[in-house]
Amino acid sequence: MTSGTPQITLYNTLTRTKEPFRPIDANNVRMYVCGPTVYDFAHIGNARPVIVFDVLFRLLRQVYGADHVTYVRNITDVDDKINARALRDYPDLPLNEAIRKVTEKTEAQFLSDAERLGNLPPTWQPRATDNIAEMQVLIGNLIQRGHAYEANGEVLFSVQSMPDYGQLSGRNLEDNLAGARIAVDAHKRNPADFVLWKQSSPEEPGWDSPWGRGRPGWHIECSAMSERYLWDEIQDKLSPEAHRHPHAFDIHGGGLDLIFPHHENEIAQSRCAHGTHAMANIWMHNGFLQVEGQKMSKSLGNFYTISQLLDGEDFGGRKWPAQVVRLTMLLTHYRQPIDFTVSQLVYAQAKLEGWNAALDGISSGEPDEKFLDYLADDLNTHAAITRVDALLDRDDPAANRAALGSLLLLGVDPKLYLDQLREIVLGPALDERAVEVTITARLAALNAKDFAKADAIRNELAEQGIALMDYKDENGERQTKWEVKR
Ligand code: AMP
Ligand code: ZN
Repeated sequence: MTSGTPQITLYNTLTRTKEPFRPIDANNVRMYVCGPTVYDFAHIGNARPVIVFDVLFRLLRQVYGADHVTYVRNITDVDDKINARALRDYPDLPLNEAIRKVTEKTEAQFLSDAERLGNLPPTWQPRATDNIAEMQVLIGNLIQRGHAYEANGEVLFSVQSMPDYGQLSGRNLEDNLAGARIAVDAHKRNPADFVLWKQSSPEEPGWDSPWGRGRPGWHIECSAMSERYLWDEIQDKLSPEAHRHPHAFDIHGGGLDLIFPHHENEIAQSRCAHGTHAMANIWMHNGFLQVEGQKMSKSLGNFYTISQLLDGEDFGGRKWPAQVVRLTMLLTHYRQPIDFTVSQLVYAQAKLEGWNAALDGISSGEPDEKFLDYLADDLNTHAAITRVDALLDRDDPAANRAALGSLLLLGVDPKLYLDQLREIVLGPALDERAVEVTITARLAALNAKDFAKADAIRNELAEQGIALMDYKDENGERQTKWEVKR
């Protein structure tokens, strides 16, 4: 960290306080975020952690250097929800083939959605199915250390074997007992014990293991992938200080719903497999997204995928530029619930329009210091954006450059917004030459005082979403600028 760079503070779910961020190894800041289970298109709620942790990734790169941050976001491509979807969508295919179709299609769609929403690709995006051997090693360790046992064709984690199980969620084992259905879980030593490995029927996806041909539980996937990519693969690049905290990394993130049981169980597995005190130092969770004041759900008819928002006319009857969606997410602090509404999108779009007008002629800049301070304060994107507006109010070139540099750090690019709007209004193949030719024809009509014809051409372009502005150039010649308008 160089002087003049901000001290980052982050709210830690584990300690329930905002803490100064001190990476284990400033040369290699390490973050893991739980990625999607690839059985269905990502919805706009799923976009929130992707965008929030992308902003954190960008801030960390700004402070510690782009080559000194490792960000892992996994793809969960083995899960019983995937199997069910494959059976439903491809009943005539062998199950494993059907599963591959579902996961490949959904993963490609997710990656495309994430990119369109302006997110940098994480350093690593491992798939669960490529890390089965690593999961088996962890499970073997857990059995050997007395933290896991086999029962009824499953390998289960024994929560009672971990005296401080439940720290992240603040639940204790008695709470869990109260809600458990004992009869269903008769093979478990404790009803809160959870599956590490379960046997597969011959047609289900499965891998050979010391505990029979089977498949992993969901939680063990993240323990294995975070360890591999944030420890094993980069061990020789880590400082001696990092080696004093084996298998631990800096930040683990995801949505609020993952605190229990998923993250609680990841911690239990990773710590008990190695007998360590921490899996990750800081645990961060984004708040939930609602739509027009209600929990998003298919049955309420207010469930929207990212691609419906960008490519369909389902939300508010129109397509939205991806930059508008991204900015809308950042106008609310990441820990607060977001109420995702048409009026919020309209508000964000108006901001992008305003920024474009204010930044005319500015093409680059460095982020403003005060802006960085706000962002470093537990990602206060709302205050940071207010700072951008204050800079633009000064109407001064240096402040304007700082404003643009700040927006770009958020992955918000007003010019990119204009391109996206243009594409929505005109379709992907905007024929700019044809527009120019038409405008030349109109100028000729104006110069010939054929105003009826000039107006007709103007109206025709307006119908295509193109607005014209006439002006005189330095020689006093009539000229026309054009832009895409809705
Ligand atoms: P899933 O594919 O359901 O495991 O979710 C992937 C990520 O999206 C997780 O980090 C979830 O916490 C997050 N997520 C799911 N629904 C929402 C929502 N409505 N608002 C915010 N985040 C969500
Ligand atoms: Zn996870």
